[in-house]
Formats: sequence, C-alpha cells, structure tokens
Amino acid sequence: MERDVDRFAEAESQDNGKPVHLAHEVDIPRAVANLRFFATAILHQQSEAHLTDGLAVNYTDRQPIGVAGCISPWNLPLYLFTWKVAPALAAGCTVVAKPSEVTPWTAYLLSRVCAEEGLPPGVLNIVHGLGPKVGAAMSAHPDIPAISFTGGTRTGAEIARTAAPLFKKLSLELGGKNPVIVFDDCDFEAMLTTTVRSSFRNQGQICLCGSRILVQRGSYDRFRAAFVERTKALHVGDPKDPGSDLGALVSKAHLEKVLGHVEIAKSEGGRILCGGDQVHLEGALSGGWYMRPTVIEGLGPQCRTNQEEIFGPVVTLQPFDTEAEALTLANSTPYGLAAVIWTKDLQRAHRVARGVQSGIVWVNCWMLRDLRTPFGGVKQSGVGREGGWEALRFFTEAKNVCVRL
Ligand code: NDP
Repeated sequence: MERDVDRFAEAESQDNGKPVHLAHEVDIPRAVANLRFFATAILHQQSEAHLTDGLAVNYTDRQPIGVAGCISPWNLPLYLFTWKVAPALAAGCTVVAKPSEVTPWTAYLLSRVCAEEGLPPGVLNIVHGLGPKVGAAMSAHPDIPAISFTGGTRTGAEIARTAAPLFKKLSLELGGKNPVIVFDDCDFEAMLTTTVRSSFRNQGQICLCGSRILVQRGSYDRFRAAFVERTKALHVGDPKDPGSDLGALVSKAHLEKVLGHVEIAKSEGGRILCGGDQVHLEGALSGGWYMRPTVIEGLGPQCRTNQEEIFGPVVTLQPFDTEAEALTLANSTPYGLAAVIWTKDLQRAHRVARGVQSGIVWVNCWMLRDLRTPFGGVKQSGVGREGGWEALRFFTEAKNVCVRL
C-alpha cells in the first residue's frame, strides 16, 4: 500500500472531494500506521494470570471472537476502514468489512493489494452495498458475533436495536459536537493556527473537529477578529491544487444539509461572520459541492445550531467568563466525543480535562494520536473504546481457566 501511496491518495480525493495533499498528509500515512501498529501490537499482547489464595492458578485465555463485522463511514474512508480491519485481523478473526458506498474506492484498492500480497481468500471479505441493506444484513447476521461501527448516532442506534437482542459485542463510534475552550492565558498564536485547522480540516468533516468555540470574554473580540480574518483567507479550490485548503464536500445531499443548517442558524438569530454560502468554481469543477468556511456568533447553547452535529465547515463562537461556565457550556450537548482546551495554567488544564464530558481531550494541541491509547466517546458519541489493547480485546473472547493446585 505504501508503494501505491499516490494512487490511494488520488482515489481518496476523487471519491471524497478532499484535497489530494490532505490524503497524502493524513489519510494514507495514518492508514499505513494502523496496519503497522496492530501487526506489531499483537506480538506484545499480554494475558493475565493470578495465583488465587494459594489454591489455584487463574489465567485468561483470549481467543479470536470469530467473524468480525466492520462498518465504516465516508469522511476518512481508508483511515477508518483500516482502524477496524487491522485489529480484527491481528486478533485472528476473519473479517466482513463494509466501507461506505459513498466512498468505496480505496477499500476496493486495498482488496487488490491484499490479493496481490497473498492474503488467503476468505480472510478479509470486503463487501460493497448500501448501509440499510448490506450493513443491516451484517448487524442481523447470526454468524457475526461482533460489530465495530463508526458513523452517525442515528445509524448506531439502529444497529444497536438489531444487534443487542442477538447479544453481539458492539463498539459504536458516533457523532460529536466538540467544544474548543479558549482561556485568556493561552498561547494565542498557537491556539489560533490550530483552531483554524481543527475547525475546517477535511471541510470540517472529521468527527474530531471542534465545532463550538468557547472563548473567554477577555480574548473574545481579539479572537473573533483574528479567526474570521484567517478563515476568510482559506482557499476553497481544486482538490488537485496543492494551494487548496478546502476541497469539495462529499456529496450534493451533504452540501444541502450543511447549507440548511446555516439557514437554521440565521432563523435562530445567529450572525454569519463569514461564509455561509456555496463556492462556484469555474470550468470542469463548476457545479461542484464547494462551500465557504463559515463562522457564526450570537447563539445560545440550547439552540439547534449548538446542539446538532452539522459535520461541515461551520463553527459557532460563544463567550464565557469563568471556568465553571466554560464547563457548563462544553457539557451542554448530548454528545461527548472530543474536546480541546487552550491554557497555560497546568492545574486548570487538568481540572477542565477531568470535568469535560468527553472521551478524548487535547490540551494545547489537536489530532495528535498515540495508537496505544483508548479512543471513543461518551454520551451519544458512542460506547466501547477502540485503539491499542482495547481494540485487540474487543475482537477476542476472554475465557477464564481456573486450575486447582
Ligand atoms: P452513517 O451512519 O450514515 O454511515 C456509516 C456507515 O454505516 C456507512 O458504511 C453506511 O453505509 C452504514 N450504514 C448506513 N445505514 C446502516 C444501517 N441501517 N445498518 C448498518 N450500516 C448502515 O454515517 P456517515 O457515513 O454519514 O458518516 C458521518 C458520521 O460518522 C458523522 O456523524 C460522524 O461524526 C461519524 N464519525 C464518527 C467517528 C468517531 O470516531 N466517533 C469518526 C468518523 C465519523 P452507506 O454509506 O454505504 O449507506
């Protein structure tokens, strides 16, 4: 796969609309890292043994769970596909894996590479087809005892409804409405640069993007002016152009959904500080699904714009005064996937990180990943954890063996 990196990056961009350079920088290297990491992690996995009151030895025998079902979304097609498939294969499972039908190409290319490299037939079975048909059939299939799913919260609930009465193991990585909390004492320049990225990378279509920017009152005006200026300077353009910061959104339906959210924000009284509209490119790209990055202010925490996942290049700004208020705002949605905290105060960083209801917290950074750490959300952002040992354990069944001495 590594030798074919150009082919994969171009396929990912054509399927998804993202800039080719982004697929080169993020999607493809991270997909390679997933495969490498789990291929070596399994060599170092440990099992537990206990001497029980001097009477017995208890040990845990972890065996592959069987056929693993993996269902992944369209936003980071190969990266999230390999994030599931790699630990399942490493744990010794055979796999039935379904990429999103919106972006199936890189998973198909991966199947070609696997066949060329001699992966035995039947080990990795990549199935193509629409979610409500093929994904639903996987969730309901009695011979698939575990489903690892990444996608929208509503789809996750549907899968859980089908799979729970069948007592399947479930890992659900779902949507988010992630807060970015900016305190007055932060490193302003570093925060600004990273917050532009955490807002609009991949056209805002990363589950970990910060979509609600909470800014302490003392910095609010300065932040708003600088952030809007940087956002306006982002170049929306041809995904093949290395100078494009944003490419196209994934589909016409998704663009319409995101633009619809801008209309909702306006009807709720939100002020559009920049963006909010489609970008019409010329020539072969005319009619493409491009959108200007959008910044909105003036909305309270309970309005739809600050409650619902938009999953596009749209962020809101909200001011706060105290640390307690920042936490109340941060925790005011049904989601709990990721949060970003910007402060130089070490104690506050730890306090707020503990208080924020979120599975992943970044302090003074964003999207730094250590594949050994657990990954996942709380509340409606999901159940179960992926990454590291958690993923390898998910795809195994633990058996306790107690041997009398
Ligand atoms: P969807 O939930 O629409 O789809 C995800 C996957 O599920 C696709 O492969 C889809 O197939 C399939 N699917 C759809 N309906 C069913 C069903 N009834 N039964 C089984 N499978 C089904 O999500 P999107 O593809 O729109 O992805 C965006 C969402 O994913 C956002 O909410 C985002 O936050 C979330 N996400 C979460 C991440 C996390 O780590 N928590 C990471 C990345 C994204 P098809 O598309 O072929 O119809």
